[in-house]
Amino acid sequence: AKADGRGTLRFFEAAMDQELEHRRRLEGRLRHAVKNKEMSVHFQPLVDSETHYPKSFEALVRWTDEELGPVSPAEFIPVAESAGLIIQIGELVMEAACRTAASWPLPINVSVNLSPVQFKRPGLVGLVQRILKNTGLPGSRLELEITESTLIENRDEVLSTLNQLRELGVKIAMDDFGTGYSSLGYLQSFPFDKLKIDRVFVTDVETSDQKASIVRAVVAMGHSLSMRVVAEGVETEAQAALLDRLECDELQGFYFSRPLPEPAVLDFLDPFVKA
Ligand code: C2E
Ligand code: CA
Ligand code: CA
Ligand code: CA
Repeated sequence: AKADGRGTLRFFEAAMDQELEHRRRLEGRLRHAVKNKEMSVHFQPLVDSETHYPKSFEALVRWTDEELGPVSPAEFIPVAESAGLIIQIGELVMEAACRTAASWPLPINVSVNLSPVQFKRPGLVGLVQRILKNTGLPGSRLELEITESTLIENRDEVLSTLNQLRELGVKIAMDDFGTGYSSLGYLQSFPFDKLKIDRVFVTDVETSDQKASIVRAVVAMGHSLSMRVVAEGVETEAQAALLDRLECDELQGFYFSRPLPEPAVLDFLDPFVKA
């Protein structure tokens, strides 16, 4: 090999070593965090597209490690999934989300993200049932968000689990719609209550006719299957107004609120409690 070829190879090897080293460190810190229950949950409102009244809050896990500082779930969830730690994290989040929601001054729903790894584990339905019982949250106030990757194998088992969850009154949302393996077939074969249109279609929706057309088509499809349709990642007033005109039912995004820690949720709800 040429000298500069060897140099390039060494460069990649070094980068891979570093990547592996970082992953190993992250996994170690994650184990520590799970053992000490260092994770917390923030809540982001989903509001009615016409009235802007809060309809539910999405629970989003938060973790600040004493060595690594705050680590984004987009970074640590995949590591937690491959290290098997997502099971404990998922349980912790669901328990905290349901317990918190049961204490809100209004009967607003809470939604929890389910990793495909959690979904595949036997005992998920029992876990949800136990958490509802322990926290006193009615099943009808819990929504579970799953992504397309959960649906790609074991169709019959997935369907059976979804139906058992729905028997508890729990609602099922298809998350990040449009980014995954997106088969329209999924939508009609699985009993979703809600469809969440991914942020990529919402960004620039007010300036891109193409994106607006996609949103319009997805909304029509969702409604024809009796699903509520949510737009994610709404950041501006113009987007919020257009998405309402495009018949989205609920909106979520920084324009309405960032994900909030528990006490700030109460402040957010305050005007609606008094109204
Ligand atoms: P997601 O389920 O799609 O959650 C929405 C993400 O978009 C959140 O990021 C939220 O903070 C962010 N977001 C909300 N509104 C806006 C907006 O207007 N603009 C922009 N740019 N972003 C917005 P977060 O909290 O960093 O979570 C990232 C992902 O990590 C989530 O995406 C979800 O896939 C995963 N995740 C978070 N918490 C959990 C959890 O408890 N369990 C599992 N399995 N996954 C989780
Ligand atoms: Ca989600
Ligand atoms: Ca999403
Ligand atoms: Ca409307």
